[in-house]
Amino acid sequence: MIIMHKGATQEEIDNVIAEVKKLGFRADVSRGESITIIGIVGDERHIPFHQLSILPGVKETRMIETPYKLISREYNAEHDTNRIIRIGDVAIGDDKPTYIAGPCAIESKSQMFRIAEEVKRAGAHILRGGIFKPRSSAHSFQGLGAQGDDEAREALTWLRDAGRKFEMPTITEIRGETKVELIAEYVDILQIGARNMYDQDLLGIVARQGKPVLYKRHFGASVEEFLSFSEYLAVEGNKDIILCERGVLPIGKGKSFTRYTLDLAAVPSIQEETYLPVVVDPSHATGRRDLVYSMSCSAMAAGASGLAIEVHYNPAESWVDAAQAITADELKNIIDTCNHIHTIAAENKRKAFKKSGR
Ligand code: PEP
Ligand code: MN
Repeated sequence: MIIMHKGATQEEIDNVIAEVKKLGFRADVSRGESITIIGIVGDERHIPFHQLSILPGVKETRMIETPYKLISREYNAEHDTNRIIRIGDVAIGDDKPTYIAGPCAIESKSQMFRIAEEVKRAGAHILRGGIFKPRSSAHSFQGLGAQGDDEAREALTWLRDAGRKFEMPTITEIRGETKVELIAEYVDILQIGARNMYDQDLLGIVARQGKPVLYKRHFGASVEEFLSFSEYLAVEGNKDIILCERGVLPIGKGKSFTRYTLDLAAVPSIQEETYLPVVVDPSHATGRRDLVYSMSCSAMAAGASGLAIEVHYNPAESWVDAAQAITADELKNIIDTCNHIHTIAAENKRKAFKKSGR
């Protein structure tokens, strides 16, 4: 990264960007109130640091040692400021928690509209609905989208229209590079599921749609790997990335009693490293509706910016992930409690920040 002097002029900044490009790199810009940092994106073996460090207006050049660079706090010109991702009236990462809710899979138009109405009333901000479902068995229902492009468009239209009617931005998961543009036509946030966390070609295409991305941690990925792969989104110039913790593989012999192991320490650890918002998915993490409430509260206490929760008016009859779906009444209870916890957690965090002098 190239750190500009506090008083660097726009002309000097533009000149540095032009030089970076002339050398065959992409220039990323992190603009703070008092300083500007320019990120050099490309093969790091060939960066001529010395040549760049003597340009007018440059204070210093430095290598960011972590594999995740553009999303790191070190690179953020406003070091302690977090990124707020805005979609219409919804802001993810600001001082209020954001709730994403809806069915695991869209089953019909009436199901989508009924759940949309219910989750809106419960206090949700963003409407989810799976159209292309990643399933463990090739013989399971793969989502309406897998039945053909006409069916996919139909389901995407229901999601979009339900979102419009009940004033919620929408989100659905991307499965496969060929469907990215189609999905981006209809929804506001593109979701990359846990199983696709490592697909760097898919990450590139999704990031280039220019829409916010909800990026889920793979169940076998370390936090460092998760952040390193997030960088594949950021290098495309898209930093509207919502990171989602959704549980990792359980360890040891015998039963774990939950579908995955929710790694809540990942939340503050990731926040220490990056300025991106982190949300938690207690539904997939536990696979159990009776644990969604307690894990939601715990996620809020850990400092999460929001939650992603699966909801159905008839949970046990959900076509996909029936064991973890909750009702909208249960969602409302979670939201009411979590709003309180979030306020307390944010207050305590501010105090801790002051103590550590940051
Ligand atoms: C989902 O959110 O619908 C989903 C399939 O989750 P994950 O990718 O975390 O398994
Ligand atoms: Mn699901």
